Amino acid sequence: MNNYESFYEQLMEYANNMHIIDTHEHLNPHKNYIGDEPDVIRDYFSHYITSDLQSAGMSTLEIDKIYDTGAGLIERFSLLEPWLDQVKNTSYFRSLEISAEKIHDVNEISRNTIEELNERFKKVASKDDYGRYIMKDLCNIEVSINDNWADDMRASTTELFVPAWQPVAFLNYNDNEAVANMRDPQLEIEKMTLKEYCEYYRQYFLKQKSDGAKALKFPVAYWRSLYFEDVCYDEAVKIFDKTKKTSDFFPKKLQDYIMHFILQTAMDNEMAVQIHTGIQEGMGHNLEDSNPMLLGNLFKKYPKLVFDLFHTGYPYERELTVLVKYHANVYVDFCWSHLISPFAAKNAFYEMLDVIPYTKIFGFGGDYVFFDGVVGHLTLAKQNVCTVLSQKVTNKECGIELAKNVLQAVFYDNAKRVFNL
Ligand SMILES: [Zn+2]
Repeated sequence: MNNYESFYEQLMEYANNMHIIDTHEHLNPHKNYIGDEPDVIRDYFSHYITSDLQSAGMSTLEIDKIYDTGAGLIERFSLLEPWLDQVKNTSYFRSLEISAEKIHDVNEISRNTIEELNERFKKVASKDDYGRYIMKDLCNIEVSINDNWADDMRASTTELFVPAWQPVAFLNYNDNEAVANMRDPQLEIEKMTLKEYCEYYRQYFLKQKSDGAKALKFPVAYWRSLYFEDVCYDEAVKIFDKTKKTSDFFPKKLQDYIMHFILQTAMDNEMAVQIHTGIQEGMGHNLEDSNPMLLGNLFKKYPKLVFDLFHTGYPYERELTVLVKYHANVYVDFCWSHLISPFAAKNAFYEMLDVIPYTKIFGFGGDYVFFDGVVGHLTLAKQNVCTVLSQKVTNKECGIELAKNVLQAVFYDNAKRVFNL
């Protein structure tokens, strides 16, 4: 065994025996699977890989058909197969095969194995303690910060999860259906002043915090730019008074004003914010809206507020790294990242260890909507982090003890400390 292999083995052994803190998931704390009954296609092909399939040319209509459990499993797989054959190179697919192998002992996802895989998946996912089995027994995750798109923070707090809360309904009051569903039906906005509206938000936020919210989560780069300009109170009042009568969604400037109010409130109450930056899941988004550089003014204006920037900002990892270096309150989060591209994640991690303190890196967030996916992603995350650290030790850029400290910090200590878990 050469030096590199020996270091890798030591570090992987350490990683496999330590507790992990998972900074980001979208798991349902009260349901084991996505559809009405456990079905491996419904879970495994619910997201991520579907973007690869669509990129290859599969239509959303065809994707909808694979979810129809009224048809036979092989029939559904046959619809998938010509497209799946084209994306077997991607890391989204690789992660699914790792999950299938590690959890169900099925070493590939193909026409030959899909029935066996489905039977095994159904058996495991039907058990009451399935979530616990995946997150604790297989992954050794102490706790996950979970964004399950829910408003009820108490119901979202379980043995496995603490919630992140999305205050987006307040930010973008009448926007798309998903956001509209998160609205408070009691809120009679047309009878309010902007001041009352903001105060209503503040009280709502304090309740969410006391009910267990550990972070605020902002997926806003999916529908608008991350640039939130300063808007003065008088101007915001004018827009608010005009807007609330027309019941349109809030114009950008009003959103900007409210975002600043939300951030100030978060800073005053020591609540961290998690912000989606970089690649958006799905098709045809405006990538440029997600550039972490657009957030620069906020980092300066709210110096005591912790900003947790998601997904390493891929493909803006380098910009994000410099932002983390510039600002003591800005952190980088590898949630989703090891899965988007293990190669890019390794490169980014290697370079970040040259540039920023290791205490500012959160090394893992599964970012899956189904439990099995977390196993594949965590496997890739450990491989990536241990590969980079072994290379650094082999190259004499750091010693093995420091490498272990970094491992401990990025997978556990940093999140534990910053989110008060
Ligand atoms: Zn996410």
